[in-house]
Amino acid sequence: MRPLHFDNRFLRELPGDASRDTGPRVVEHAMYSRVDPARMPAPELLAWSPEAAARIDLDATDIDAGFVGLFSGQHRVEGAAPFASNYGGHQFGHWAGQLGDGRAISLGETLNAQGERWELQLKGAGRTPYSRGADGRAVLRSSLREFLCSEAMHHLGVPTTRALCLIGTGERVVRDMFYDGHPQHEPGAIVCRMAPSFIRFGHFELPASRGDLALLEQLVEFTIERDFPELPGSGKARRADWFADICARTARMIAEWMRVGFVHGVMNTDNMSVLGLTIDYGPYGWIEPYDPDWTPNTTDAQRRRYRFGRQPDVAYWNLGCLASALAPVVDDDEALRRGLQHYVDTLTRHSRHHHARKLGLEHFGDDDLPLLQDLHTLMARAQMDMTLTFRGLCDVDPQAPSCEPLEAAFYDAALRASHDEAMQSWLARYAARLRADAWDDATRREHMLAANPCYVPRNYLAQQAIERAEQGDMQALEDWLDVLRHPYTEQAGAEVYAARRPAWAAQRAGCSML
Ligand code: AMP
Ligand code: MG
Ligand code: MG
Repeated sequence: MRPLHFDNRFLRELPGDASRDTGPRVVEHAMYSRVDPARMPAPELLAWSPEAAARIDLDATDIDAGFVGLFSGQHRVEGAAPFASNYGGHQFGHWAGQLGDGRAISLGETLNAQGERWELQLKGAGRTPYSRGADGRAVLRSSLREFLCSEAMHHLGVPTTRALCLIGTGERVVRDMFYDGHPQHEPGAIVCRMAPSFIRFGHFELPASRGDLALLEQLVEFTIERDFPELPGSGKARRADWFADICARTARMIAEWMRVGFVHGVMNTDNMSVLGLTIDYGPYGWIEPYDPDWTPNTTDAQRRRYRFGRQPDVAYWNLGCLASALAPVVDDDEALRRGLQHYVDTLTRHSRHHHARKLGLEHFGDDDLPLLQDLHTLMARAQMDMTLTFRGLCDVDPQAPSCEPLEAAFYDAALRASHDEAMQSWLARYAARLRADAWDDATRREHMLAANPCYVPRNYLAQQAIERAEQGDMQALEDWLDVLRHPYTEQAGAEVYAARRPAWAAQRAGCSML
């Protein structure tokens, strides 16, 4: 493997934890602790992403023992300086105190030939001072899900952290999923993820919660200088503009999630990136039968906070937590409030743009809201697959609308039959609206096909890829990822990846995996 060029600004410019003690503890006035990844018995490369590798100037010729050694945490290379960062967070609506990277270890920040910064982080590489009682490990099932979804989201055009590779560790990891009264031993695996920055809302909340304003201010200036160098101005005014920029980025990300039917499942402030990237793929899921109340997170006790339809509100709430943390160093509550309003305005603008393209309208106005809301109601009542419904709409003929292109979206024949009349009448309204629109058929179809994916990482397909991987067969993942590379292009022989979830898979729609 060719050498990487490291430039570890986070370590260089921010205070760290002086002790190299690896035991769990409270770490004050420090943004990180230096740690060493654990020794793993038998690291083995299971999958890698050529597209992610290209971002750090690596290609197939670099995939060798050195690559596996580095990204399993077994080899040290020149310039790398492993560390775990220190952050807090609001979880499920409550302040949770210090959390930190309990099972993520950054190798350092690399610069590629274009000067782009990519931090490389191993998830599941061992304990850190932030692991609390847990083992710092990740299992194949959760690492495969993160690897797959990060790359699928990128190809869908959703802002996200990336995944370079998936490496089996050869360890058996105990997870507290009990069957027959016995703990389960599962294969361990590490995913190497990449982002220009892994700074989360919770990184600011922790020093703010401790009244450590010197550290808070230092971190704010560091983040702006390193991750937002294009922001003009200086001082507190620049900090307010920076917060507004985080709000706008978060709005863009949420609008994209809503466009493709992604449910994050753990939208805590420790899982929110200041760059507006989707981060920390845990119990995420994809909307199949349309249901704004659906959440994949079976530990979300009341099943309310992290449901699909609440994501825009929860992001706003999380930004409110960040605003409170920043208040002492921005010193202008009105400016922070304007930032939050900027979230609302940006989300509205992006959502409308997506609604327009998803429905095939040149412009989506207030008058079009009932048409969209009625479609959502119909999809929910008739249990229609979100992805297949919107993809089907691309084939509706405005001159002769019929339900035919939507047949594949129905999960239940009886519900399909009982909603036939409602569907026909909605389609008639939709066709009339299309006829009144400025776009011709070809233009409309082109926009719709680019906004409505054909392939998304359906939950049950991920489960199948996991089961095959646990038997040592990585081909299922590879074949599927090939299809997900071009999610808007219908591909011959890929019908199974586009089809709706089979009835037998319905019980497995949610998960509690962390
Ligand atoms: P999450 O809900 O995945 O965002 O995790 C919340 C916190 O728990 C973070 O600080 C994680 O680093 C930590 N955590 C989760 N799983 C583990 C694990 N297996 N070992 C150590 N820390 C963990
Ligand atoms: Mg997390
Ligand atoms: Mg997680």
